[in-house]
Amino acid sequence: MKKIFFAANILLALSLVSCNQKAEPKAETAAPATEPKKMEVKLSDLSSNKDYVCGMPLEEGGIADTASYEGKLYGFCASECKAEFQKNPSSHLAQK
Ligand SMILES: [Zn+2]
Repeated sequence: MKKIFFAANILLALSLVSCNQKAEPKAETAAPATEPKKMEVKLSDLSSNKDYVCGMPLEEGGIADTASYEGKLYGFCASECKAEFQKNPSSHLAQK
């Protein structure tokens, strides 16, 4: 009985190892898929070339995300900035 249990443990350990080996290349292929997430946003499409949350000037190709507010489009350097903006857009726009 003990022997069977021991063998089962080895099998379990082996399957865990093979599982880990399978997971690694999967993670590698997943990385490039998320990379071209940068949006093709033109600065001219935005109502301002400034990130109103962190105050950073935005550059073409460096716009990570956008949000529209009162019919205007605003760009952000990061999705975190967008999230912050959406919490209270008017207060961010007020502090120029
Ligand atoms: Zn920002």
